[in-house]
Amino acid sequence: MKHPSIAVLAGDGIGPEVMAQVLRVLHHVCPQFNTKHGLVGGAAFTTHQCHFPQDTQSLIDDCDAVLFGSVGGPIDSADEPQWKNCEINSILALRNHLKLAINIRPAKFYSALRDISPIKNKRLEGCDEIIILRELLGDIYFGEKQAYTEEGIMIAEDTARYDENQIALVAHQAFKTATRRKQHVVSVDKANVLETSKLWRKTFQQVATGYPAIKLTHMLVDNCAMQLILNPAQFDVIATSNLFGDILSDAASALPGSLGMMPSASFNQQGFGLYEPSGGSAPDITGLDKANPMAQMLSVTMMLRHSFNKTKEADAIEQAIIKTLEKGFRTVDIMQQDKTEVGTIQFTDEVLRQIKL
Ligand code: NAD
Repeated sequence: MKHPSIAVLAGDGIGPEVMAQVLRVLHHVCPQFNTKHGLVGGAAFTTHQCHFPQDTQSLIDDCDAVLFGSVGGPIDSADEPQWKNCEINSILALRNHLKLAINIRPAKFYSALRDISPIKNKRLEGCDEIIILRELLGDIYFGEKQAYTEEGIMIAEDTARYDENQIALVAHQAFKTATRRKQHVVSVDKANVLETSKLWRKTFQQVATGYPAIKLTHMLVDNCAMQLILNPAQFDVIATSNLFGDILSDAASALPGSLGMMPSASFNQQGFGLYEPSGGSAPDITGLDKANPMAQMLSVTMMLRHSFNKTKEADAIEQAIIKTLEKGFRTVDIMQQDKTEVGTIQFTDEVLRQIKL
C-alpha cells in the first residue's frame, strides 16, 4: 500500500522552527506518512534566486497534500532582493499553480482561553467557532493592474473580476459546510455599490435553492466588520470574496485572542489541500522559541481530516492541545496570570505527552 506523501514547505521566519515541532506531532500520530521537504520564499531565494523554484513545484505535484509554514522577511527589509515580492511570488504563485479556489479559516474559541479575547466574555456567549470561507483565485488580486502617470499625476488601477462559476464553487462549499453545522450561511458582499458583489449575491441566491434546509443571510461587508465585534455569536459560516475574506478573516482571528492559534486550509476543485497557519513569518519573534505552534498543529488536524480522513488522529491532537491549555501551559502570546509560560518546544512536548490514540 502506498503511504500518503506530504510536501512540507516550512518557509521563513518562525516557519521552520514551528514546523520542526509540529512534524514531531504528525509523525507520532501517523508514523506511516512520508514527509518531503521543499524550499519556498526567502529560504528558496538564497539558493535558487527565486521564491518558488521548479524543484518545489515538482515536489508538490508528486504529493497528496501541502503543509506550509510562512514566508516573508521583516517589513523594513521588503525592498531587499530576498524579500521583494516574496509573498506574491510564493503564496499567490502557489495558489495559482494548484488552482486553490477556496480558503477555509476557522476561528475557534477555547474555554481555557476565554479571558484572553479582546471581546468582553458576555459577547462571546454561544460562540464556539466561526468558519470563514474565502474565494481565493478571483477579485481584485488577480484582475488587470496598472500604474501610470497622466499629465504629471500618478495613477494606479486594480480590476476586480468574478464569473458566476467561481462564486458558485464557494456557495456550494458554504452550504455543504453549514449542513454539517448550524444550518446558517452569512454571505458577505458590497452589493449596494459593486457589480461583482451584485453577481455574488445573485449567484448565492441561485445556489441556495438547492439547499432548502439552510438559512441564507446577506450582509454588507462594512456591517459585517462591525457585527463580528459587537455580536460574534450570530455567525457560524461566513462566505465572502477574496479581498473581503482577507480582511474579515484576520479580524475574526483576533477574537479568540491570538493569531498564533489560527489554522487555515485551501482547496482546489479536485479537493487537493494546502494547510497553513493564518499568520505570517513573525520576524519579531523568530529564533526565540516564542512562537505558538497551535496554528500549525491545528493546520495538521485540518489536513488529517480533509485530505486523509484521519478523524481519530486529528481529534487526538486537538484534545491534547486542549488538555495542555487546561493544565495551564501557555506560549507568550496567550500568557495569563498564574499560568506557566513555555516556549514552542516545551508546549509541543506537553501536547505529545497528552496525546491518547
Ligand atoms: P505576522 O503574522 O508575521 O505577525 C503579526 C504579529 O503576530 C507579530 O507580532 C507576530 O509575532 C505575531 N504572531 C504571528 N504568528 C504567531 C505565532 N505563531 N505565535 C505567536 N505570535 C505570532 O505579520 P507581519 O509582521 O505583518 O508580517 C511579517 C512577514 O510575514 C511579512 O514579510 C509578511 O509579508 C509575511 N506574511 C506572510 C504570510 C504567509 O506566509 N501566509 C501571511 C501574512 C504575512
